[in-house]
Amino acid sequence: MKNGIKNPLIVVGSVALDSVKTPFGQVKKALGGSAVYFSCAARLFSKPEIVAVVGKDFPKEHLTKLKKLGINIDSLITENGKTFHWQGYYNQNLNEAITQKTELNVFADFNPQLSTAQTQAKYLFLANIHPTLQLNVLKQAKKPKWTALDTMNFWIESAKSDLVKVIKGVDIVLMNDGEIRQYTGEDNLQKAVRKITDDGPSIVVVKRGEYGAICFTPNGHFALPAYLLKDAMDPTGAGDSFAGGFLGWLSQINKPKLDDIKHAALMGTLVASFNVQGFSISELESVRGAGIEKRLKQYRKMLV
Ligand code: AMP
Repeated sequence: MKNGIKNPLIVVGSVALDSVKTPFGQVKKALGGSAVYFSCAARLFSKPEIVAVVGKDFPKEHLTKLKKLGINIDSLITENGKTFHWQGYYNQNLNEAITQKTELNVFADFNPQLSTAQTQAKYLFLANIHPTLQLNVLKQAKKPKWTALDTMNFWIESAKSDLVKVIKGVDIVLMNDGEIRQYTGEDNLQKAVRKITDDGPSIVVVKRGEYGAICFTPNGHFALPAYLLKDAMDPTGAGDSFAGGFLGWLSQINKPKLDDIKHAALMGTLVASFNVQGFSISELESVRGAGIEKRLKQYRKMLV
């Protein structure tokens, strides 16, 4: 922990029921969604507040669990209808999720509203969700110190023009390498990142699954490998939990320097590694600071 002060970090994104199959098992309609994975990771360093919608079918015990984890769900509303449902599977190569169903359900008509206090928040994360909703929330934020965004191929293909608008308005972009190439139409990663930073954002994090991440900042770029696991089970939410660790850490720091950004990326990497060890948030929900510290020592040993 940097200074023990946890700042509110607002996240708009999906709160979902996920049906996932990997070579190591499967779950049906388990707790998931970009905002859930993000918050579960970010709670270690910040006070996440979820802005999202669920349907009447969303189990009450999930709400209780999120609250118990210290996640503020006052702006998680329940509407008539069904909760967002994502169904996908992974083959032996856990790096690639194959989507079978994306059922937006209550998200199709969702109009996210920040509370008055949330409009004044310093830190805002637009997790993976329809770019129109991301844009809508970004417009409501009055005094952000920074704003960050994640997205995926689904939205690059189906809502590119709003995605371009929202990316222009944020400071930090997180995307995986395939998505950044798809979004910019540029194969060379440095040139692809340049196309994004030319539009406004100053930090771009390129996520590369089990190969780790490369972080581009105004003061240079750096790479981190992922923490290699013997018992990887389900990578769903790895990108969101990386974002949670990364931005959660960053939100503790008043004026982040390059070393702070590097440490934030370390935290993202380590928190995401716990997530991959179980389905849904089964592993992530029990991680504490001491577990991160222990893993950090092991991780440092594998770096040159
Ligand atoms: P990740 O593995 O980090 O990309 O995140 C997976 C999570 O994203 C799952 O829990 C899904 O519910 C959620 N998800 C999948 N597709 C979408 C989508 N199109 N929009 C928002 N969230 C999604």
